[in-house]
Amino acid sequence: MSPDTPSESVGPAGTFPGFSGSHAPQESDLYKCVHCGFCLQACPTYLETGLEAESPRGRIALMKAVNEGRLDMTPSVVGHWDLCLQCRACELSCPSGVEYGKLMEATRAQVEQHTTRSFTERTARSVGYQTILPSPMKLRMVGNAMKFYKKSGMRTIARGTGLLKLLPGEADIADEYLPELSKNFFVAKGQVHPAQGVRKAKVAMLAGCVMALTHAETLEATVRVLTRNGIEVHVTGGQGCCGALNTHSGEPDTAIEMAKKNIDSFLSIQPDAIVSASAGCGAAMKDYGELFAGEAGYSDKAHQVAELTKDIHELLVEYDFEAPTKSLDVTVTYQDACHLLNVQRITDAPRAILNSIPGLKLVDLGEPAVCCGSAGTYSMTQREMSAQLGKRKARNVVATGADIVATGNPGCAMQLDFALTQVADEDSNERTTKVRYVVDLLDKAYALE
Ligand code: SF4
Ligand code: SF4
Repeated sequence: MSPDTPSESVGPAGTFPGFSGSHAPQESDLYKCVHCGFCLQACPTYLETGLEAESPRGRIALMKAVNEGRLDMTPSVVGHWDLCLQCRACELSCPSGVEYGKLMEATRAQVEQHTTRSFTERTARSVGYQTILPSPMKLRMVGNAMKFYKKSGMRTIARGTGLLKLLPGEADIADEYLPELSKNFFVAKGQVHPAQGVRKAKVAMLAGCVMALTHAETLEATVRVLTRNGIEVHVTGGQGCCGALNTHSGEPDTAIEMAKKNIDSFLSIQPDAIVSASAGCGAAMKDYGELFAGEAGYSDKAHQVAELTKDIHELLVEYDFEAPTKSLDVTVTYQDACHLLNVQRITDAPRAILNSIPGLKLVDLGEPAVCCGSAGTYSMTQREMSAQLGKRKARNVVATGADIVATGNPGCAMQLDFALTQVADEDSNERTTKVRYVVDLLDKAYALE
């Protein structure tokens, strides 16, 4: 059983009444699947396990069986759903247009309503999804505590004395997965960064949650790149996490509350566009209309935000970004984040930006559509599969011989960084590939001028 799998199913066998409530999977979506199996080879968990139950078709069959009362929502059933990365690679290969991501989000909301997770999981979910993620200030407090833990020597002591193994909640594993944090966090407090030259547009920029702590330098680079291209950037106050992690984990109610804050914050400046430097957050905001279906009052504004939202690469190309003039002599491979490739369907814009940099040689990555295994909180809740996929991706990166792997998503950046080190250690090689964002490279090229 996975660490994020409920410990109890609902009621005695055969008594589950079917999906119900406002966030239930729609039967019109569920019964679109014709079992053709075209999605199987696109699915990372199927590729790794070869098991039907770990494929999109298998998971949909389980949803139907549970919905029809033929099967209970047992820990085993939920375990198969939990192992899904929600990478949505299956949607791209489905001839019937099954909106699998929507189905899985709704199914997870049902799991949270109808099953009981262990006390530790309930506590972790409540603290994480309902207390910390909705509050940028609390998130920064956690970030500062992590910095103190690392820098004060506490980490060395905890590791050296074996204390971590005695603590509850797999503290030793949590310690191993602690991310690198930025020196200064990126804080949204209503900053206005004027455009250089003639102003082409005014945009509201999302700071996000994790990215503001782990890749604040990239958010600063994003501001520089935008203003350099005539775009006025407002990092509007009152915004916070986009809610994607909550939505994907079956917590739509808190996701809606978080989205409301962002909607009010962004629309307060009447922007021409809303920009996200994180693929996952951009994808979530483009889905705000769907999230607010049936929520009178915010639905129109949610649709407005969804329509205004642009991924950074998409926005730069739309506003005819200037190609740098100085040479950056590096070999780069580009990793398609699932939320750009499969969800936002953006593939050309990041490559166009990389190809615009003189001297930069772009080389293709093998298995571009196979998820790196990051997938939001998946790397914590499904560690084994996440690590397998991370190493699979890292080995593909190493095989390109590139100096740098460029990405457009914080989860992918952290996962690639971790997996590249793991693979180098396993193979007793020195790690030579760095991880950077596409905007980091554009910013670096501009800085040479
Ligand atoms: S979302 Fe990804 S992991 Fe989940 S079933 Fe589809 S392809 Fe497989
Ligand atoms: S490709 Fe689409 S219709 Fe075919 S099995 Fe997969 S989800 Fe069902």
